[in-house]
Amino acid sequence: MSITNPRRISKAIKIGNVTVGGNAPIVVQSMTKTDTRDIRATVRQIKRLEEVGCEIIRVAVPDTEAARALVDIKKRIKIPLVADIHFDYRLALTALQAGVDGLRLNPGNIGEADKVKKVALAAKERGVPIRIGVNAGSLPKTADKKSNIADRMVATALEQVKLLESLDFDLVKVSLKAFDVPTTIAAYLSIASKMPYPLHIGITEAGLPRTGVIRSAVGIGTLLWLGIGDTIRVSLTAPPEEEVIAAYEILKSLDLRRRGPVLVSCPTCGRAEADVVKLAQEVEKRLAKIDKPIKVAVMGCVVNGPGEARDADVGLACGKGRGVIFKKGEKMAVVEEKDFLSALMREVEEI
Ligand code: SF4
Repeated sequence: MSITNPRRISKAIKIGNVTVGGNAPIVVQSMTKTDTRDIRATVRQIKRLEEVGCEIIRVAVPDTEAARALVDIKKRIKIPLVADIHFDYRLALTALQAGVDGLRLNPGNIGEADKVKKVALAAKERGVPIRIGVNAGSLPKTADKKSNIADRMVATALEQVKLLESLDFDLVKVSLKAFDVPTTIAAYLSIASKMPYPLHIGITEAGLPRTGVIRSAVGIGTLLWLGIGDTIRVSLTAPPEEEVIAAYEILKSLDLRRRGPVLVSCPTCGRAEADVVKLAQEVEKRLAKIDKPIKVAVMGCVVNGPGEARDADVGLACGKGRGVIFKKGEKMAVVEEKDFLSALMREVEEI
């Protein structure tokens, strides 16, 4: 049971067979880092992302060749495909013909309303949703320079929402991304009550994993805790699988999604009776191959160890040369230090 704030009510839309918004689970998505024209490499990367639980994939469509490659990519993957379009609305039209499940447009660089209109009409014919993806770094030149960035982002998005609504198009999703976490939070908080559409949330260009994951967890986590956000992407300068793993960790830490194991391990201190760092790293590596949402604890001593270990599905509390294995709160066995890893994993696998 989650104790986050009640979720903002949004209109549910379908990206392929995945529901975004309404009461649907918060959807995890990512973006490929391959050259989209290289169909084999792109499909291979998407397959890896499917394996780690990515639910929607977006690909960059910088030119006509990339837009045409979408036909083959779409045929060879299972998850919904979204085309990311900048500058040239004609690429969006080609992507729609290729059968994509969603479009992401940056209104700041698509240009005149007329071009957005043409795309909206073609998307409407096919029932394909459009994400209005506003980025703080590329606001339209017409945006009111006197107001703050968050307000300008919101105003830009709402203008595009209105334009799409005027065309009787309501398969809309909105994102308002900035590198700056407080700006991003302010923008989403502001737009949340101004329109009914689902929100795609993330911190853009968050950086390398060590800092990027923290920035994303703070920004995305704060919004999710406030009940805002229907789909998330963690942007990292790293292989996209890391984005998906980080996204699930954020969702799991707020108890919003369950996927894969949760590892509880103590920070170790002068009381530690074993090499907890090495042991926890090894356990984490082995748990990565397991899909089941189980909680595993590795604790360094008998002070806090038994409590946490007992609270987990499977836990180990290390002692001097020996440790106690707990399973579902019950003491299962006392094992020798050399058997810590194998004994713990044996119990995990049995669950
Ligand atoms: S469980 Fe024991 S070893 Fe680990 S941090 Fe707590 S007191 Fe230190």
